[in-house]
Order: sequence, then C-alpha cells, then structure tokens
Amino acid sequence: MPWDANRGSLPRGLPRAIREPALFGKTSNERLGQKPALVYLRTMTLRKIAPLGQPVLLRRAVPLLDPTDAPTRALIQDMVETLADARGLGLAAPQVYAGVRLILAHLPDPDGVVDRTAAPLVLVNPTLTPLDDATDMAFEGCLSIPGLRGIVRRFERIGLEALDGAGRPVEREAEGLFARILQHEVDHLDGILYTHRLEDPRHLAFDGEVQALTAYLRAEEPESGSERSDDRCCTQ
Ligand SMILES: [Zn+2]
Repeated sequence: MPWDANRGSLPRGLPRAIREPALFGKTSNERLGQKPALVYLRTMTLRKIAPLGQPVLLRRAVPLLDPTDAPTRALIQDMVETLADARGLGLAAPQVYAGVRLILAHLPDPDGVVDRTAAPLVLVNPTLTPLDDATDMAFEGCLSIPGLRGIVRRFERIGLEALDGAGRPVEREAEGLFARILQHEVDHLDGILYTHRLEDPRHLAFDGEVQALTAYLRAEEPESGSERSDDRCCTQ
C-alpha cells in the first residue's frame, strides 16, 4: 500500500497515549516521581517519503563509508519503520531524502509470498550482476509514485553483492520477485524510477485498473500476451 501523506507520524495501531503523549499529560510513573516507562521513551521515526518530482529521486546516491556509524544506524532503523508503515516490499535511502547507497528489501518465500512483518534485508552499497539474459515483465509500484503501477522488464536471475547493516559481506543469488525488488531498489540509487523503464508508455495504470489493462493488452497482442499476463504488483 502506498504511503499515505495524511497519516500521522506514528502507526495507527499504537495506543493513542503512545502516539500522542502530549494529549495525555504526565504518565502515571511521572506523577509518582518515577522515571517514565521505557515505552514512553522509545522514539519511532517515520521519515517522509520523497514523491515523484523530488530531485533526490533523480540523483545518483554516494557509497556509504561506514554502515555502522550512528547516523547510518539511525537511518536504517527509521527506514525499517517507514517501510513497515508503508507496507512496501523495499525502500531505498533516496526515497527518504538520504542520498546514500542503502536499500531495504523483503525476501519473498519460494512461492513469492512476502511476510511484511518480518525484518527486511539491509543492503549497503549493493551491486547487481545479471546471471543470464532471461527477463520477465510484471507490474511494479513505487512508494514514491502512489496509486500507479507499470509493466517493467527485469532480469529473472541476478547475483547480489553488498554489505549488511553490520558491515559484513553479503553475496547471494536472487531470482523472480526478489530479483525484481532488488533491481527496482538499486535503480533508485542510480536515480532511475520504474517509469523510466516502461517499454511502452501505455503500460501504466492506476492500481484499480491493472486487470483491465492486462486484459486489453492480452487481447490486443495475444502473441506477447503471455509475457504481459502477470498482473502481480509490488510496491517499493
Ligand atoms: Zn520505488
């Protein structure tokens, strides 16, 4: 689900006393002269997501020198919370106005199902290498472009090299939806949005019109319809 600009700064699911403590005056602990409970001290920070048109989405991000320094650890924590709140599949640092080469990506299970409550992978300075020439086309969405989906061609299998949030090397292969998520997010680090990769400008639809567009394209071009028949959506 795309980011909702009208949403408050903290998830709605939290008790109101935690989301808006100022409305509730002193906590019972404070009234008793004790230190406030830890839950009141924990800060959650949802960063604003840069919408289409913001220059940060078009600039090339710079490598991160030390993923374990305090500002980067804070950025990672904020991005994890922002991604969970937005219910996306991945998030790149430029999407929260940070021009560094850092992405988060959820790892789908073998059936392509993503548990958005699980911790996303933290990938620093990621590089991707196609493992072969095979590609597929599917709808993608982007948290910076709410309400729209577009059909994008991606490599089906890629090699990933990166550092994790602790600075340890990560090296693995990715395919299918996971490969797609990684390519979408690493594109963000190079100032590339999925809309830049539309092979046909007609391959763009509002969320609710994806099936209608898919049916139209299948009927119009049956020979290529199978390639465009995948109306999976992923918002990143
Ligand atoms: Zn995106």
